[in-house]
Amino acid sequence: MIYPILLYKKEKNKLRKRSKYIYNKPNLIELINNMYDTMYYYNGIGLSAPQIGLNIRLFIIGLNKLKMIFINPKIIKYSEKKIINKEGCLSIPNLYVPIIRNKIIYVKYYNSFWEKKKIKLKNLLSVVFQHEYDHLKGKLILDYINYK
Ligand SMILES: [Zn+2]
Repeated sequence: MIYPILLYKKEKNKLRKRSKYIYNKPNLIELINNMYDTMYYYNGIGLSAPQIGLNIRLFIIGLNKLKMIFINPKIIKYSEKKIINKEGCLSIPNLYVPIIRNKIIYVKYYNSFWEKKKIKLKNLLSVVFQHEYDHLKGKLILDYINYK
């Protein structure tokens, strides 16, 4: 199933909300499958739950053949090294913003089986993670534009 993606123009308030932790370990498999269908349909490489109107701390990444699901994720350590990329967002079409991020991050999260995981992410994976993680805080690529 393909969900409609919330657009900043129309759904600013929902996209600006801080997402909530997921408790009681619900089965999220169907939701996650639908999120993947949606992300691939719109040619994204990441999609967060708030972008489909769910105010919960969950996002997915799909880079090449790699699929990663992050439930209640938390960044526990950042590298000093930075990386810069032009980022787009499915909720803000046609805007690309150069954003400086940490090149390497260490994160903990639950996977779709509710197993506790810890992982090191680098380069584009780290960038996409930080982009989606921002969504859970209601932060968007717009916030990185330097207004003069
Ligand atoms: Zn986005």
